[in-house]
Amino acid sequence: MRDVIIIGKGPAGISAALYIKRAGLDVLVIGKDYGALGTADKIDNYYGFERTISGKELVENGIKQAERLGVEILNQEVVSIAKNERFEVKTPENTYEANLVLLATGKKRTGINIPGFERFKGKGISFCAICDGFFFRGKKLALIGSGDYAAAELEELRRFTEDITVFTNQMPITTDKFESGLKIVTDKILSINGQDRVEKITTDKGEYPVDGVFVAIGTASAADFATKIGVLTDNDKIIVDSNYMTNLEGLYAAGDAIGGLSQIAKAVADGALAAVDIIKKAKILKKGK
Ligand SMILES: Cc1cc2nc3c(=O)[nH]c(=O)nc-3n(C[C@H](O)[C@H](O)[C@H](O)COP(=O)(O)OP(=O)(O)OC[C@H]3O[C@@H](n4cnc5c(N)ncnc54)[C@H](O)[C@@H]3O)c2cc1C
Repeated sequence: MRDVIIIGKGPAGISAALYIKRAGLDVLVIGKDYGALGTADKIDNYYGFERTISGKELVENGIKQAERLGVEILNQEVVSIAKNERFEVKTPENTYEANLVLLATGKKRTGINIPGFERFKGKGISFCAICDGFFFRGKKLALIGSGDYAAAELEELRRFTEDITVFTNQMPITTDKFESGLKIVTDKILSINGQDRVEKITTDKGEYPVDGVFVAIGTASAADFATKIGVLTDNDKIIVDSNYMTNLEGLYAAGDAIGGLSQIAKAVADGALAAVDIIKKAKILKKGK
């Protein structure tokens, strides 16, 4: 049995793990991949890096730092969380128990299963307008999506370019926030093509040259298993109090999973602040034994 299990090994999860481990507690981190940063090829707005760093490199550095301090990190996918006397965190491989759990699972980012989609992630395909819009100043962009989330990303992208076409990929338009006169293509998308980077979108009706593709399909969500155990969410964001605890005693959340600014600096700060209360609570629980 651990004092704390952290689900997610991105900036929020690892930041929390550093504080919790250094406070002398037994913490286990479970994460399945590189999270949002796995597809970020250039990070230029996070403190302390003289040169541009890739998202993958940043995550790997964080993981190595935590491991150096003795944090145990498992590469597994959590499939469910239950709370009885304590928390039970289940992966296909095992069930782990802890007094306290931190959800640092980031956002759920929905993609489409077409040729070129995986290949061009981070090479012209982005899931984050506020992060990558700057790199496409004055360029010709496609935005895939049809709901409120897509409308919000469109508004963000407008700061960088006028030339944006929305591709619904045959999904119904579920937002009333798209600006009037917006170029909208409702065709079925067949593939995304290019040499080293995205150059065009091919649909069932034609070809559309583009410099970049932003993806905002459905609602960005990270609260799938949280809702299953009665944790309150708002628009798929986990609701937390000022100590980062959810409505379920002992279950915390931090980073992109709780909404707000989707940036590394905020996720790292969330992780540290959540850790402060987790440490306090874990020590009280230990004394009570
Ligand atoms: C393309 C792109 C570019 C970006 N560029 C920038 C930038 O330049 N600057 C910036 O500040 N921010 C940038 N961001 C945003 C930044 O990546 C996020 O805000 C930040 O990574 C959020 O950290 P997090 O720890 O909350 O979530 P994430 O980094 O997404 O980490 C989530 C973690 O949870 C794990 N996880 C999720 N579900 C499960 C599960 N069921 N079981 C086990 N593990 C699970 C994942 O494997 C991962 O380890 C970018 C994002 C994207 C997508």
